[in-house]
Amino acid sequence: MGTPNTKAFGTASPEAALQQMQIERRTVTPKDIEIEILYCGVCHSDLHTARNDWGGTIYPAVPGHEIVGKVTKVGAEVTKLKVGDFAAVGCLVGSCGTCDSCQHDLEQYCLNGFVGTYNGKDKHSGTQTFGGYSERIVVDEHFVLKVPANLDLAATAPLLCAGITTWSPLRHWKVGKGSKVAIVGLGGLGHMAIKLAKGLGAEVTLFSRTPGKEKDAIRLGADAVVISTDADQMSKVKGKFDLIIDTVPYVHDVNPYVATLNISGTLVLVGYLGGLEPILNTVPMILGRKAVAGSLIGGIAETQEMLDFCGEHNIVSDIEIINMQDINEAYERMLKSDVRYRFVIDMASLKQ
Ligand code: NAP
Ligand code: ZN
Repeated sequence: MGTPNTKAFGTASPEAALQQMQIERRTVTPKDIEIEILYCGVCHSDLHTARNDWGGTIYPAVPGHEIVGKVTKVGAEVTKLKVGDFAAVGCLVGSCGTCDSCQHDLEQYCLNGFVGTYNGKDKHSGTQTFGGYSERIVVDEHFVLKVPANLDLAATAPLLCAGITTWSPLRHWKVGKGSKVAIVGLGGLGHMAIKLAKGLGAEVTLFSRTPGKEKDAIRLGADAVVISTDADQMSKVKGKFDLIIDTVPYVHDVNPYVATLNISGTLVLVGYLGGLEPILNTVPMILGRKAVAGSLIGGIAETQEMLDFCGEHNIVSDIEIINMQDINEAYERMLKSDVRYRFVIDMASLKQ
């Protein structure tokens, strides 16, 4: 693990609670920016990684990829930001920079493998990367974002993952005025998807299995709410949507949602990773030129575009600020869909 020089919060095994630990941050190289982390959002992917839901977690693991903070040091060749500026880091801290994906600002699809902000392989040290549940981070300037000055800093943090993950499919499938968009699941990603789709001018419907979230969904910008467990409500939106963004983290039946796509509509899975159960029925897809697709976060240029759009439209996340020491309880609440609508850690609590 190198020479520990930074306070962090992480876990030693899938079953263990997160606790305070020391990690190593590399010395700032000519292209690096060092950021004092002020706030870090809590993504469901943090929980999946801490508990090894996807396999492949290297321990100890320090999650956190919705990072905002202040620049404390810059390398000699850095031009993007200077000491004292606010800065943000999302899910990516490296990629090859030369493959076809990287050349097209799609670092998240780097053909040689992107470097994740946590549980990735640091290009400089070859050791694993540690995320934002920590005092500071050192990142190549290419992967550091500028924060619009008018936005609340803590509420901006979730834009770095929940925001860009929903923005990227909205842009790729060209959502705009007149588009009919539906979002499945009102959590961190879902609530940002509503705000961003609405900001782009779409008509937005929320699919939720949790009665009681309707009022919030409308307040966040949804035009309608459909309770997905109510067959009657589901049949009323048959054939309606151009694009559905499905944020559900666990295996679930997507066939009822495909039925609500318009001809040539697309359902984009951004939540669940793995085989679908029950199996996907291709009949309605073939008869209606419908597609089921996936999408991974977004590239750096697209992330900056999303942040700038949020600055112009005053869009931030609805957050509940927690102390670092409350993270284990926050994970339990996230599993019960009891998040309104993103936990953000006040990193000052780590200094206590
Ligand atoms: P979250 O805040 O926990 O929200 C997920 C929402 O899905 C819940 O609020 C709930 O909404 C619904 N839901 C939860 N469990 C469900 C179940 N068993 N069946 C049906 N609906 C369920 O999570 P998040 O942070 O938004 O993340 C969502 C997923 O996206 C996670 O799996 C995460 O790892 C993944 N992710 C993917 C990317 C990517 O690049 N593709 C990026 C970030 C995160 P209702 O109560 O409204 O039903
Ligand atoms: Zn995330």
